[in-house]
Amino acid sequence: MNHTFSILGGGIGGLCTAVALQKAGFQATVYEAAPEIKALGAGIMLASNANQALNHLGLWPELKALGHIPDFMIVADNKGKLIQKMDNQRTAQTYGFPTLTIHRAALQQLLLDQLAPDSLVLGKKGQSVRQDGEQVHLQFEDGSEISTDYLIAADGIHSPIRTQLLPEVQTRYAGYTCWRGVAEQRPEGFDEKIFSETWGSKGRFGIAPLKGGKVYWFACKNAAPNDPKMGQYGKEEILEIFKNFHFPIPQLIRHTATENIIWNDIVDLKPIKSYAFDRIVLLGDAAHATTPNMGQGACQAIEGAVILAECLKKAEKPETAFKAYEQTKLGKAQWVVNNSWRFGKIAQLSNPLICSLRNSLFRMIPAKSSEKRMEQLLRFESREAR
Ligand SMILES: Cc1cc2nc3c(=O)[nH]c(=O)nc-3n(C[C@H](O)[C@H](O)[C@H](O)COP(=O)(O)OP(=O)(O)OC[C@H]3O[C@@H](n4cnc5c(N)ncnc54)[C@H](O)[C@@H]3O)c2cc1C
Repeated sequence: MNHTFSILGGGIGGLCTAVALQKAGFQATVYEAAPEIKALGAGIMLASNANQALNHLGLWPELKALGHIPDFMIVADNKGKLIQKMDNQRTAQTYGFPTLTIHRAALQQLLLDQLAPDSLVLGKKGQSVRQDGEQVHLQFEDGSEISTDYLIAADGIHSPIRTQLLPEVQTRYAGYTCWRGVAEQRPEGFDEKIFSETWGSKGRFGIAPLKGGKVYWFACKNAAPNDPKMGQYGKEEILEIFKNFHFPIPQLIRHTATENIIWNDIVDLKPIKSYAFDRIVLLGDAAHATTPNMGQGACQAIEGAVILAECLKKAEKPETAFKAYEQTKLGKAQWVVNNSWRFGKIAQLSNPLICSLRNSLFRMIPAKSSEKRMEQLLRFESREAR
């Protein structure tokens, strides 16, 4: 099979797909809109399912060396009182791999290092596609066009390719906005064994220790969509929201340079029903963008990349492989989008009385039953990838 595969978008999904396809012996080229690859600014959590998939590509040893493995994932209230606790060592024992935190720039570089020479083309913003019986013709914003046997659209939540194929699909605003930062140093007394999320009525704060003494954090607050005021918030304003939260939240905000704080409104895609369209297939956020509440957006893209490569290895025709990938990935991705949406609504409650009731109810849920619920998520069970 000497087909050409073109991948639109060089984010985690697109890069991982290129690596998976090239390792499986296919010719794959990535076309990325950005004129240069800039180091991504925040951290990311890679759950066990993503690490199982990345291990399938032989990347676990490097990933483990670049990342940090916390012992526990906890949810606490704003005074620091425990609500829920998950044992990451038990996750590793159960699924073979733990959850890991890593700087996005390190993950991006690891993927870039695996690419075949000359298989990443920068400054190519895809605009529209046309399929005939034999090929896909992809037009770029600069007026140029390529013809390729197959196209994998990994061009993110605002994918123009998906918009052309499914014009009715819209993004939806979750009701909260988010700042992300990396504190350059750990405050004294900081516990690197814990990855945590704190739920308060004023907002939500996540802490993920990274390798090398840095700490990634995220902070969410309910807000109107696209409020420019939120985009102007620096660390003083974020500190004002979280000043009464437990140690080390205010300290981490203080240890972060304002110019390194990234701001986004949280949006997702209501689950869509197809990813495969003859010679075109959608992957990652272009197919199933989710709110970040379960830390699964990139994990699902990584799973998708590995499943797609495995389907291509087994099918006679790529069109059949695209359909098999869709069948394998769609149900789980939809489950993630729906549960993450609901989870966000619960975590962002703002009435102090209801928050206190929620916390009491969550404290009554046995850890074992929460872990059981996560089983279908944390097991990378692609019948194709086994
Ligand atoms: C606050 C926050 C926290 C998160 N935390 C986590 C986490 O802990 N764990 C996790 O698994 N996920 C997390 N996610 C989700 C994760 O970031 C995304 O799901 C993941 O990055 C999606 O990767 P992607 O490659 O599909 O899309 P993107 O990252 O959006 O990449 C798309 C790429 O395509 C390029 N592109 C766009 N349009 C075009 C075009 N027309 N032509 C060519 N190129 C184009 C872009 O420049 C970009 O490089 C988080 C998201 C947010 C917002």
